[in-house]
Amino acid sequence: MKASQFIFATLKETPNDADIASSQLMVRAGLIRKLASGLYVWMPMGLRVLKRVERIVREEMESIHSQELLMPVTQPGELWHESGRWEDYGAELLRFKDRHSRDFVLGPTHEEVITDIARNELKSYKQLPITFYQIQTKFRDEIRPRFGVMRAREFTMKDAYSFHIDKESLATTYQDMYDAYSRIFTRLGLNFRAVQADTGSIGGFASHEFHVLADSGEDDIAFSTESDFAANVELAEAVCHDERLAPTQARTDVDTPDMPTCEAVAKHLNIPLSQTAKTLIVKGSHSQDNPEAPKFIALVLRGDHTLNEIKAEKLADAHIPLTMATEDELKDIGLIKGYISVDLDMPVYVDRAAAALSDFVSGANIEHKHTTGMNWDRDAKFTQIVDIRNVVDGDPSPDGKGVISIKRGIEVGHIFQLGDKYSKALNCSVLGKEGKPVTLMMGCYGIGVSRIIAAAIEQNHDDNGIIWAEPQDKADSIAPFYVAIVPMKSKDSNAEAKAEELYQTLKSRGINVLLDDRDERAGVKFADLELIGIPHRIVVSQRNLAENKYEYVNRAIGDKQMLSLDELLALF
Ligand code: ATP
Ligand code: MG
Repeated sequence: MKASQFIFATLKETPNDADIASSQLMVRAGLIRKLASGLYVWMPMGLRVLKRVERIVREEMESIHSQELLMPVTQPGELWHESGRWEDYGAELLRFKDRHSRDFVLGPTHEEVITDIARNELKSYKQLPITFYQIQTKFRDEIRPRFGVMRAREFTMKDAYSFHIDKESLATTYQDMYDAYSRIFTRLGLNFRAVQADTGSIGGFASHEFHVLADSGEDDIAFSTESDFAANVELAEAVCHDERLAPTQARTDVDTPDMPTCEAVAKHLNIPLSQTAKTLIVKGSHSQDNPEAPKFIALVLRGDHTLNEIKAEKLADAHIPLTMATEDELKDIGLIKGYISVDLDMPVYVDRAAAALSDFVSGANIEHKHTTGMNWDRDAKFTQIVDIRNVVDGDPSPDGKGVISIKRGIEVGHIFQLGDKYSKALNCSVLGKEGKPVTLMMGCYGIGVSRIIAAAIEQNHDDNGIIWAEPQDKADSIAPFYVAIVPMKSKDSNAEAKAEELYQTLKSRGINVLLDDRDERAGVKFADLELIGIPHRIVVSQRNLAENKYEYVNRAIGDKQMLSLDELLALF
């Protein structure tokens, strides 16, 4: 490609509404342009990167015999009614009507459509297992689109779906997918980790997320310092080896005026925050269909811990979605926000760490008062000890090896053993070995193809711009161009002719090369090429040619080298 024939949409200034390094750099380097909140145009420079990521993803999907197809973005509402997700999906699902008043959605994901295909096309167990994938646009009406293409409303996803006669076959394909994902992210040169993830309300059998480690990530990942345990904090089990000691203090109500938080109370009483307990009241699973269930339940945590809502939602007595009691609802049952005791007339679920407390401080069920010297059994009863908190740095690792350390991650992939949720709802079965219909097992596997690019930049950039990772195989570089040649124009110089010659040589070797023949000052070109992150830059000048040398700079390393043509060509 010749730069004079290509749009360089680079910007000197950082756009006001770009919020993190990657989104700023993607706009400044001319990879993307914002059209509206969460909607981006992929400019020619950016599309080159996207296509290169897609190529690697495709190759690895093909390597595990996943078959590419392409499903429409627009999906009929009936399928979503059939699966139950028309009601369940929430506001991220963009629903609309066509001119005949029929319901449609813009696909945020494609389980319904692929299951419809499978139920129509698959007849026999002999056709299984089978895996399909597509690389395609998704629409999710995200509540807070941000970080550029990282959390966009319209984005590119690779989504794959597998169908199986039994769980064992699903587990095998799941492992193949896991390995293919690991190869994809390795080839992309990303620093990533596969972590155990929550299977959520779908209740599948297993799930892993692939995270690129970066401080700007939206997810917290818990790692063990000693083993390869890694899990999303949403899921990571919080263990507690502390033993509860016998009471030594008498139960006493003390004044804590205007101190509704554990922090304020601990400071006032001059005790560690970990010696306090906080009680959260949430709605119970009581309903017309379930009149015996409690209207409210209490969740007790140590003052220095935070509630893990995903874990709490799984308590049999909890309302789904987890819903905190309002101040008015608390008043109705005689409780005062900020001063709730652990001694309550309702089911009380105590986190493991809070259950190990003795002589602790809790609310007194009296405004502006707390109780010291609280002890379980003697002063308050609980219903059950449960794991309902988020793990914190220094917690014991659940596998017994080392302690937890928490890092930030950007989720770039997610694999999931779904089980039969969709195949059951949509009645997707084939004839099994015994000649009877068998409902299929299903897996689904997503990769945020466009998010990967933002994540890669987040992980690797400097003050001058983007740095694309140097992969083991240079064909895997996702840089829009791998090499740039800059001729230094001067009168009576053969630099331009020599640069053109080198350009043709590299092109003939299959190198993704850019000849920067723009009518610009060298300084402008260098700044652009660094901003875009072209990994290798060669300057061809009259002066250096006189000594048969070319100036070479590696973007990631930075220093200049004078190389002969042979030395230069040996690099690529
Ligand atoms: P998140 O927790 O980040 O919202 P998710 O659990 O909703 O992700 P999945 O439904 O598993 O995501 O989608 C598969 C992949 O698609 C994710 O791993 C992520 O890389 C990507 N993805 C999801 N939402 C977005 C988005 N709004 N913009 C860009 N990529 C996205
Ligand atoms: Mg999401």
